[in-house]
Amino acid sequence: MDRPTPPSYSEGVKKYIDRANQALAARGRDIARARKFRFDTIAVHGLYTATEAIEKNQGAIIEPVFASSGQAYRDSDEMEAAQSGLIPTWAYIRIQSPTLGYLEDTLSLLEGYGLDAEVGCCVYSSGMAAIENLTDTLLVKQGNDPINFVATCQIYGGTYQQFNVRKMQERGIEVRWVLDSNNLDEWRSLIDKNTRFLYGELPSNPGLSFFDLKKPIDLAHEHGLPFIADSTIATPALLRPLCHGADVVVQSVTKTMSSSGTGAAGAIIARKPIVSNVNNDGMKADLCRYLHEYPHRDQGGCLHPFQALSSMNDLRTLRTRVDVWCQSTMKVARFLAKHPAVMHVNYLGLEDNPLHELATEYLWLVDAEHDERYGKPVNRYGHLLSFRVKGGPAAARKVFDRLQLIMRVTDLGRVKSIATIPSISTHLQQGEESRKMAHIPPDLVRLSVGAEHPDDIIADLEQALAAAKGF
Ligand SMILES: *Cc1c(COP(=O)(O)O)cnc(C)c1O
Repeated sequence: MDRPTPPSYSEGVKKYIDRANQALAARGRDIARARKFRFDTIAVHGLYTATEAIEKNQGAIIEPVFASSGQAYRDSDEMEAAQSGLIPTWAYIRIQSPTLGYLEDTLSLLEGYGLDAEVGCCVYSSGMAAIENLTDTLLVKQGNDPINFVATCQIYGGTYQQFNVRKMQERGIEVRWVLDSNNLDEWRSLIDKNTRFLYGELPSNPGLSFFDLKKPIDLAHEHGLPFIADSTIATPALLRPLCHGADVVVQSVTKTMSSSGTGAAGAIIARKPIVSNVNNDGMKADLCRYLHEYPHRDQGGCLHPFQALSSMNDLRTLRTRVDVWCQSTMKVARFLAKHPAVMHVNYLGLEDNPLHELATEYLWLVDAEHDERYGKPVNRYGHLLSFRVKGGPAAARKVFDRLQLIMRVTDLGRVKSIATIPSISTHLQQGEESRKMAHIPPDLVRLSVGAEHPDDIIADLEQALAAAKGF
């Protein structure tokens, strides 16, 4: 760690350290209390309590937005303690901000729901900023050997470009793509002593691939490496990779978590400690704290407090809306699967999907057993599907162009249903070769089902598909 360790602190600085220790103990009690709540309660409240509202925030029931770039200190002792990392502080917005802290508390609790371990979080201005800051922090050279990392090739287009172009082509850090993420021997064959982490996205965007998460996690740990899961498509309402042993979770908070779509946000959520072969004990002990204090401070992809509030407001209803959207998506998938103009529907919820059984092992609506409507565990398969229209790319574009209610957008997870053609949008830049490797054909239409009544979504698809007749 690059934290300075002066030989001794003045009495004034010690006073602030004592005060901070008391505050940390109280926070520990709040965390222990919050962890006893059910998922919905945590999503609504996070760690923001009535006591805090009344004593610090004029009684405001909603977490206040502190729209301020910096934090004033009482005196030089407090400033020294804060800047030396001896007491929790928000200091300056690239290090921390109290409103971002509320969002981080909620995300830590939700991703760590059901996990008996400590969890930390660091939020970012976008999912890509989160992925970059995390992976750069782990991609440390030790000695002269070139370093590498292993990742599933069925992955979000932006992540593919970041790994393939920004890291490998421009900086010589090798990404070793796993072509079949369910082939453990393939994962194993790509690891060597210069590997820094294993990375997987599930379900993947847009291919909806899925893999047996526990297996590469165990493999990573056998090699002393961390496993990172991009769990954006599932959200903690359906899957919590940390509970299956993953070290770190990546979230594009922009997407389903912030469904009203007012802006971008990203998050890294990690266990304490994580496994890693990087010689940095502080980083391994508390990755997210380390990110806050050093890499995030130095690289600066910080989230705006207004967006943190917007994301928190959307998160409060995460479980119930994911549940409803998943059910609508199932209806839409069944409709499409029967439609004569549709060649193929890719949805993990359909029984004939080759990954259906595997997804069924992992994708559970959180707390369904405590929900009166169900009273037992219930599978849900997400609100993202893709389909191919008969007649090739021209027919797919014709159908796509006729959509009226469903908007044509390169986005997902919105309260409004939206569709895209990945080969000409999200996955355009990476080129045909790699799209083939990731199974993204040019006639694939990706649909993100929102909160409209499913009958209206289906009616829009039906009138659009009428255009495909004749192909
Ligand atoms: C969108 C997305 C990202 C990138 O997140 P941004 O917030 O858009 O930067 C990463 N992973 C997945 C799976 C995504 O869908």
